[in-house]
Amino acid sequence: MKFTPDKPPLTGETLDTLTTRLAEQGQPTFRAKQILDWVYKKRARTWDEMTNLPKPLRAWLDTTFDLVPTSLVLHKESHDVTDKLLLEMRDGSLIETVIIRAPQDDVGEEHSRKTICISTQVGCAMACVFCASGLAGLKRDLSAGEIVAQLLQVCYREDARTPRARPELASFDNIVVMGMGEPLANYDALIRALTILNAEWGLGFGARRITVSTSGLVPKILKLAEEPLGFRLAVSLHGATDEVREKIMPINKAYPLAKLIPAVREFSEKHGRMITLEFILIEDVNDSIDQAGELRDIARDLHAHVNIIPYNTVEGLPWKRPSVERQESFADVLRAARVPVTLRREKGHDIAAACGQLRLKTEKDRELAAM
Ligand code: SAH
Repeated sequence: MKFTPDKPPLTGETLDTLTTRLAEQGQPTFRAKQILDWVYKKRARTWDEMTNLPKPLRAWLDTTFDLVPTSLVLHKESHDVTDKLLLEMRDGSLIETVIIRAPQDDVGEEHSRKTICISTQVGCAMACVFCASGLAGLKRDLSAGEIVAQLLQVCYREDARTPRARPELASFDNIVVMGMGEPLANYDALIRALTILNAEWGLGFGARRITVSTSGLVPKILKLAEEPLGFRLAVSLHGATDEVREKIMPINKAYPLAKLIPAVREFSEKHGRMITLEFILIEDVNDSIDQAGELRDIARDLHAHVNIIPYNTVEGLPWKRPSVERQESFADVLRAARVPVTLRREKGHDIAAACGQLRLKTEKDRELAAM
């Protein structure tokens, strides 16, 4: 399930791979760093902006690489603090990248904090019953260059909006890999992309400010624990017992809680940082006080932070968000046990912020337009 473009994206190259390519052309070693500086620090959007490169080299780059392999199709600003970029890949595939302009925990003084939510696949194979991304299954994996390009697209927009004291720095604070797709199912491209984002010659973005969210691919969680860069982990739990979890997340059959929880514990111990358990609240599915009690016990055992997310309704799916009172009573069970918990405020409901919805809607619109 791979797409091979005419020209590979430059954003998928590392300093090493680019140096090798350039050496084959008889170029000196320093050229690779110069080019990457233009891309990640100065955010050049055309080869011709790279004025310290000889013209023939620019021409060779142009025939060899796609500078940024995505185009912005749509930018939706919601009435609250969430923005969405709908990006089109070279094969016409659509993905979503979300900008969340507030802290997850609603602390007023940190209001300017920006979290960027990126996608790793077109569609998703996990088939969680509540999620719009998986409705049409998996179309394909994104390449590392396509994953990285999402952040550059955000930089282009954010740079224009809020210039920073040091313009070469990315104008956002956190990256969460919580967009469309299961990141750990596209492991190699994910790690390559995160390495590029983290590298000093890339975006220079700290690994501890990058969170990978997974539906619970146990072997890959264990593999991620071994990565030298130390990215943070969030686990989409959504059910605190197998009985509840397997009804809504098919992956729980392959990796039930008895396998998932020890893997998360191992990650947490290796990593030395608190992991996050995500728990979307769906009315009459997983929002009982019993589930809250089970979740509290798991969170205490793992010393985890819990993110409670009121479900975002998805067109065509029957699931509902519980009342605010019910959300609060659920959270209270955890708070009473001093489990660190965040009850997320609604963000982006008005622009179809639930994963994959904007893409589905646009694909539908396109189909209609083609009829
Ligand atoms: N596949 C990864 C990352 C992508 S989904 C994972 O499962 O973690 C990012 C988060 O959004 C997951 O916790 C997912 O369960 C949640 N999510 C999906 N659809 C949602 C919806 N309609 N409302 C609220 N959260 C949703």
